[in-house]
Amino acid sequence: MKKITLGILGGGQLGRMSAMAAAELGIEVHIFCPEENAPASQVSAKTITASYEDKAALADFAADVDIISYEFENIPLETASYLEAFKPVYPKPSLLEVSQDRIAEKTFLNSIGIETTRWEAIKTPEDITNCLVNWAAPSCIIKTARFGYDGKGQLKFRSGDNARNVFETLNGTLIAEEIVDFECEISMIAARDRFGGISTYGPMLNEHRNHILHKTTYPSPLPADLCTKAIHIVKNLAERIDLVGVLTLEMFVTKDGHLLANEIAPRTHNSGHWTIDACAASQFEQHVRTVCGLPVASAGNHSAAVMINLIGDDILALEQYIKAENTCLHLYGKTDPRPGRKMGHVTTIKPL
Ligand code: AMP
Repeated sequence: MKKITLGILGGGQLGRMSAMAAAELGIEVHIFCPEENAPASQVSAKTITASYEDKAALADFAADVDIISYEFENIPLETASYLEAFKPVYPKPSLLEVSQDRIAEKTFLNSIGIETTRWEAIKTPEDITNCLVNWAAPSCIIKTARFGYDGKGQLKFRSGDNARNVFETLNGTLIAEEIVDFECEISMIAARDRFGGISTYGPMLNEHRNHILHKTTYPSPLPADLCTKAIHIVKNLAERIDLVGVLTLEMFVTKDGHLLANEIAPRTHNSGHWTIDACAASQFEQHVRTVCGLPVASAGNHSAAVMINLIGDDILALEQYIKAENTCLHLYGKTDPRPGRKMGHVTTIKPL
């Protein structure tokens, strides 16, 4: 078998766990990221430390690898497109383009029949007040269309608030969303290979604290018909975009049992970390397989799982997990436990 070298843009924990899965398959990983000693660099054969705008460094990176992927969606589109001239980039940068902009994302989702909450592009203060009137809603959520994550770049706007202030707090193009009175939040992960084979994980039940994922449970307590719908939605999405790689779809489950898509992540996802310990093939193995031209593996699980994120100072309470039965500890090699920083996770499994 020919030796494969996979290049990954981004040096965070998702890249780290993909690099570890690649090693299991005998695939070498090179990382490109602006930070020194990044979590992914610590477990990879080589890192090029440079800015995403450094074309000479990008060309050097591309020269040494067979295939290029990325581990987070906010790498500049221009970087991914530039690299495509040298080596195949998966998932296709066009997916990056859609997922980087909430307006493009929702427009696309709605165009292929995937329901979202009601939304409107916002250009003026009047656009915001009009939304509340048109939706007969007392409040809505305003988000920046680009570069928001973990609740950053968004605020709740209530009827009577000064709409002009929104433009002082949030920069760039904005989107208003109707507030979903949700029962719970779920996610689905799809892996699709170059031959059209698809495997899916989920739906996972996700609980957030301070807008950051705290806990993921699989299987979720969702009724079987909603699970089937969620699987159908993500498969349809993966096929419509001709996905090669892994993507995640975050969804709301409304109180009246509807699924509304919230966000696409064109990558592995925090809500899929449990797959490392509860499945024969993890989301990270699927990422490596699919972008490197291997067939997807089965996504079946041998255990039920609950994953808890270790965020900031949570890492100081490791003792409680180190000896716990059926508990798998994953630390990302980060030394500075800043508030809100994902330092690691623990997964407790229960064999089926
Ligand atoms: P996002 O950055 O879009 O993933 O939003 C972060 C979190 O904010 C979500 O996981 C939800 O808990 C909440 N949220 C975002 N949009 C809405 C919405 N339209 N209605 C209700 N809650 C929302």
